[in-house]
Parts: sequence; C-alpha cells; structure tokens
Amino acid sequence: MFKSDVQYLKGVGPRKAELLENLGVKTVYDLITYFPKEYEDRRQLKKISQVQDGEETGIQAQVINQKIIYTRKRNGILKIFLTDNSEEVVLVCFNQMYLSDILKKGVNVVLHGKFERKLARLETSNFTYEILDGSDSDLIHTKRIVPIYGLTKGLNIKFLRSLIKRTLDKYADSFQDMLPGIIKDEANLCDYIWAIKKIHFPGDWEEKRKAYRRLIFDEFFLFQLALAFKKKGIKKKKKSFTYRLKRTLLTPFRQTLPFDFTPAQKKVINEIFSDMQSIHPMNRLLQGDVGSGKTVVALAALLLAVENGRQGVIMVPTEILAMQHYINVEKMLASLKIKVELLAGGMGKREKKRICQELKEGKIDIIIGTHSLIQEGIDFFRLGLVVIDEQHKFGVNQRALLRNKGLNPDVLVMTATPIPRTLALTVYGDLDVSTISECPKGRGEIITQWMKDKRAYKKVSEEVKKGRQCYIVYPLVDESDSLQIKAAVKMLEKLKNEIFPDYRVGILHGQMKKQEKKIMMEKFVGKELDILVTTSIIEVGIDVSNATVMVIENSNRFGLSTLHQLRGRIGRGKHTSHCILVGEFKTFEARKRKEVMLATADGFKIAEEDLRLRGPGEFFGTQQHGLPELKIGNIITDFEIIEKTREIASKTLERENLTNSDYSKIKDALWERFGSNLKWLSVG
Ligand code: ADP
Ligand code: MG
Repeated sequence: MFKSDVQYLKGVGPRKAELLENLGVKTVYDLITYFPKEYEDRRQLKKISQVQDGEETGIQAQVINQKIIYTRKRNGILKIFLTDNSEEVVLVCFNQMYLSDILKKGVNVVLHGKFERKLARLETSNFTYEILDGSDSDLIHTKRIVPIYGLTKGLNIKFLRSLIKRTLDKYADSFQDMLPGIIKDEANLCDYIWAIKKIHFPGDWEEKRKAYRRLIFDEFFLFQLALAFKKKGIKKKKKSFTYRLKRTLLTPFRQTLPFDFTPAQKKVINEIFSDMQSIHPMNRLLQGDVGSGKTVVALAALLLAVENGRQGVIMVPTEILAMQHYINVEKMLASLKIKVELLAGGMGKREKKRICQELKEGKIDIIIGTHSLIQEGIDFFRLGLVVIDEQHKFGVNQRALLRNKGLNPDVLVMTATPIPRTLALTVYGDLDVSTISECPKGRGEIITQWMKDKRAYKKVSEEVKKGRQCYIVYPLVDESDSLQIKAAVKMLEKLKNEIFPDYRVGILHGQMKKQEKKIMMEKFVGKELDILVTTSIIEVGIDVSNATVMVIENSNRFGLSTLHQLRGRIGRGKHTSHCILVGEFKTFEARKRKEVMLATADGFKIAEEDLRLRGPGEFFGTQQHGLPELKIGNIITDFEIIEKTREIASKTLERENLTNSDYSKIKDALWERFGSNLKWLSVG
C-alpha cells in the first residue's frame, strides 16, 4: 500500500505524478515522508481595521459582493468584496475569473496575504484563501502553522499540501511504529503515526519539535543499530593470544623518554591497554589534534605487543611519512634492542624479499610502511597489533581489508583530523573512540598572520638569523600531478636561487627519488638546512622542533584541515612560531577560512568550522565517509539525538538479539535501509 504509485491517488494522474517525481516522490510512502522545508505561522488573525499598509497577515471575513471591471488592455479584473464588520477588504483577482464561482456572496473565508491600503480601503492581489465551512481544525492553508514544501514548476503549493493532507488522513493510521514501547519510554519519544501527521500539520511549535525528534531519532537509530551490530560481530571474535603487562620494554621506554606522558596521554594509554588485554580484538580510534603526541601512545601499545612476543605494524598514507616515522621510532627505541624495519614501495626487490622473509620468521618486531603492507601478500609470524596513522587518508575499505586477513589483530587507528565526539560516533561508529584532549605543555605559541610574500620572506630571514628553521610550502592539490609538481619545482628553484641565495635551502617534493627525499629530510632534521621549500607532502608527520616559521603560499586554495595540518608542523618547540598565509582570499569561503585560521589553532574548532563550511560529504571525502543518507536528520546539529540513539542502540543489543517479535519491524527496517550488502547484519 505504501509502495503504491502516487499516480493512482485521487486528483493526481499521470501528469501530476510526473511533477511529483521531480521531487523524488513516487510512492505513497515517499509522499508522506516528503517533509516540509519550513513552516509559516499563520495562526494570528487580525481585524481588517487593524491591518497596516504593506502588512502580511491573515484575516477572516465574509464575501459581500463581486464586481468585474473591464479595462481596455485587460480582459477583465474580478474584484471581490469582503467584510468582518470592522472594515471592508477587496480582493483584486487578475486572471482568476474562476474565483467568482468559489467566493460567492455569503461565503466565509480565511485569507492570508499581503495587504495594501489604497484610498483608505484595504486591498490585496497576493493572497491565499481557504473556505471556512466546517470547524477551524479542518483548515490547512490558513489560521494555523502552515507547512511549506519544496516545489517544482507546474506544481502548486495548495495542491501539494491538500494532497499530503488527504493521503495522511487515508493512510497514516495503517503505518506501523517500528519502535517497541520500551525504547520509546527510554528515549522519551512520541508515537510514530502521531509524528508523521504532526510534522506536516503541527498544532504548535512544541508538537513540531516532538515530531522532528521522533523522526530524526528513527533515522539515526537505524544507523547506530547497524553499527552496533557490526561492532558486536567484531567483538564476538576472539584473539588467539592474551597479553600481560610485563613492562620489560615499557618501563625502559618510559625511562628513556625526555618527558613524562601528559594526563591525557595516560588516560588513552590505559584505555588502549585495557582493550589489548581483553580476549576480544581491539578496534579503537585515537584522535587528537596535530602535535598532541599520538605517536608515543602508539609506541606504548606496540611495545606491549612486542613484550608479549607479538609483532606490530605502523601503516601510514605516504612513503615520506613512513620514512619519517621510521627515523623517529628507531631513534626512540634504540636502547630497547628490538628490531624495527621500513618497507617502502620504492625499495629494491632483494631488500624487500629479505624483509618479508624476516617478518615471516618473526625476526622483525615492528614494521613501518604504507598501505602496500596490506595489499601485497605479506605474512606475519605472530601479528598482534596494527596501528593505522592518519586515518583520514585511508578509506573504510582498507580497514576492513586488514581485519579480513583473518588474523583478528588489535587495531588502533589514529587521526589528526579530530572531529566532534558525536560525529566520531557516527562516522567511526563501529570503533571505540579515545581522545587526547590537550597538547603537552611548554610549547611556544603559534602566531598566524596573513601577509604579502615579500614581508613573509623578511620574516623568514629574521628567524633564520636567530638560528631557527623554516618551511616554505607550495601546497598541491594532487601530489601525483606532474604539471603541478613542475610549476612548484620552478617556484622552489626561484626561491632557492633568487630570494634566499645566502641561506642553506633544500627542496622536497613527492616526485623525488626515495633516497633523495631521505637525504633531504635528514639534513633538515640535522639542522644542515635553514629553509625547506616543499609541497604538501609534509602535511603529515614531520617533526622538527627547531622549525618556527611556515609560509604557506597560495593558501587561499586550500581547505581548513590541510592548512591546520600544515601549521601543525611548527610550534613544536619552546620558541614562538609564525604561520604566514600568503595568497588572495577573494571568495566568501576563502575569506571565512582565513578568518578561522587567524582566530584559532584548536583542531576541534577548526574541524567543526570546516564541516560547517563544506558539509559532511566533502569534509570526509566521498569514498570514505560512510555517512548515512539523511532525509531529515542533521549530522552536525542533532548531537543530542545522535548520542541518545547510540546509547539506546547498544543497550538494545545488550538486552536483545532482535529475535524477539517486538523487534521484527526494526529488523525489517534495517534490511530495507541497508540492504543485503551489509551481510554482517545477519550476525546474531
Ligand atoms: P601527533 O599527535 O601530531 O602525531 P607527535 O606524536 O608527532 O604528535 O608528537 C608531537 C611532538 O610532541 C613530538 O616531538 C613528541 O616527541 C612530543 N611529545 C609527545 N608527547 C609529549 C609529552 N608528554 N611531553 C612533551 N612532548 C611530547
Ligand atoms: Mg602524527
């Protein structure tokens, strides 16, 4: 019945059905769930004598007379006179002669329109009317909160509104509420059928709010339930090994670190360790702003695996980051006598073969590499933990691929694009989330400014004279686009030879040979270079605390998260740092981005702004966001409801397997919504 074609509804027919299809409405169900885009409050009616010139309002009156006035140019204008005993009003009807049959003498109407006072008489030619022949509660276009719908050419709002009302009256009561009473009580929700009626025709704003809350709840609830199912499926798996906190590596590691863990780091390390010691595989997201110290947290986790005789993997999105991590990690773990290796795409065949062999034999404890680590047929001796760094660069699929290797390792994914917690719950809903909420203390401030390039270069000179190092970045949209690289390299050469001939300048970009990159990076880390001119390949991971200036050229072209990530490369030492944005910010959005960058260095705030500016689809990148398609919910503003759905989804699954008949409608809705491509729904 709900799937039946709208064409067969009374008053529709093939032509109107086609117009409705333009709105995405094909079935009765589509029509009933074609929600208002906004509402107009037409509850207040005025006495005609109180209506001002130019005012938009409603009145209630009786028709007392009609007149047709013929002019030379026009065919005839119908004038209808009404009164409410306070004064008269005239409806001026152009090309609406048919109204003379409808608004006959003696008929009572409610009118809503824009009124003008002409020669002391009230007039309107722009109005909606509704005949009052029953009780007030039958009115749908006037004297109430009126729903406004998105339209298409040829489709009239009154027609659509009436059609929806008729269809609701006829069909809504046979809809079924998928939620059992217990869930409605827990979440304090109204009845579904009530909601579906009230969302179109609310009696007051409170009713509208309740209806929205219910329907938004349903939308997110199904999604969260699906995620909870998936999570439960993963949790059911058992690891073939258990961990004990031996501290044979962890204690010496802590002793060699030049700092103590921050309280925030300690908290997340505890969360991770407790997951790792569980018999079920860990599936945790670690988020924290750039520079918050995620790497040492990951190392602690890796060492727990290694001290229990397991192997660990660090997987990163780019070769350069893999290399950077390798250099860092090796240094930090040097005194521990464990074997760390790098596996990179550009490596010689023989070297690769040796590493693969050693991995298989268990001679390597920690391996660092790019996603090629999971794509190629690499075998581990005893894989225990996989750390995926900079998750935002990886797709959901790659995560799944790993898990599907059948090894059930613990998985820790790290992201430097922090997102508001509730959003993380939705996007990474199948993961547990740990958040590092504060950066280590004692770091210098980062001052962000917008300058012309000449002044920026002057700043660079000043800092270099003080012994600091600088980045000058030409961000690229696509690091593999050779045309772009070429243009960048030309600029890089110019900087090196013409602008900073007196300084030690190095160049680093994505298309250099691996060995060249490595040398360049080591030089910069070793302070053999003053300035590194580079592309966005340094966006992630590079860590040089003496670098205090970053000039970002063409910064107007880049998104907030890229800019923030880049900026995160400085401000890592105790000195004050300078981030300088160069570029013309002409569009509204570009200016907005600049404002945000100048105003805050808080990654969570920036992510929120970014999300607001670009919308969730763009923000997460289409291939990887895994966001639900939403008809009514809003992933950014509906936090409260999302939290609630998540809580109740997991409660429900703890309590039930959805085998109880109370839940059969939910199960049907899940299948309907997510289809058979989500095979994991059959779990449990
Ligand atoms: P990110 O979270 O961006 O990956 P890193 O792990 O690269 O951050 O850490 C940034 C810098 O902060 C590194 O130089 C690291 O050694 C340092 N660091 C990490 N933890 C602490 C701490 N507790 N106290 C001081 N410095 C720290
Ligand atoms: Mg990092």
